[in-house]
Amino acid sequence: MVTGYCVKCKEKGVELSAPGIYQTAKGGFMAKGKHEKCGTTVCAMMSKDNAEKAMKDGATKEY
Ligand SMILES: [Zn+2]
Repeated sequence: MVTGYCVKCKEKGVELSAPGIYQTAKGGFMAKGKHEKCGTTVCAMMSKDNAEKAMKDGATKEY
């Protein structure tokens, strides 16, 4: 499962629903998904290892 910070709820560690994994211009990785509770898009920076792990767990590769 992928978690991030929801700016709307001001809540840490919210679970992203149907997360997608993106690569940033600098070569880093980030996950983008929706906070189930409020529908806001939540982003989370990730290491390469965590990005690969998330994709194994069912996150969509978007790069
Ligand atoms: Zn939220």
